[in-house]
Amino acid sequence: MARIRFCLSCGARLPRSASARRRYCDDVCRAQAYRARRVSDRIMALGMLLAEAEWNGDRRTMRLLTCPECGRITFAGGDRRRDAVYCSGRCRSRSWRRRAAVL
Ligand SMILES: [Zn+2]
Ligand SMILES: [Zn+2]
Repeated sequence: MARIRFCLSCGARLPRSASARRRYCDDVCRAQAYRARRVSDRIMALGMLLAEAEWNGDRRTMRLLTCPECGRITFAGGDRRRDAVYCSGRCRSRSWRRRAAVL
């Protein structure tokens, strides 16, 4: 008897006829899972990089990896643009507003 299995991405039940190797309901789910895994890999790698920079007192790398507004890790190049400086649009506009107030 076949075991009931579920899509690893969306959790939908896979058809009983699905092959044993099938883990997602369709290509969309598979692509989504792939992207999510890449992002979490990237976040892990960045977290390690940041811990190392902190350990070495490498302020340049720390600045590169963290949001200048709130100090949170920005995950540049993960799920966001590679050149992202701020962690979110909110931080970006906040810093813009502050700069505008100074000028
Ligand atoms: Zn699915
Ligand atoms: Zn921020």
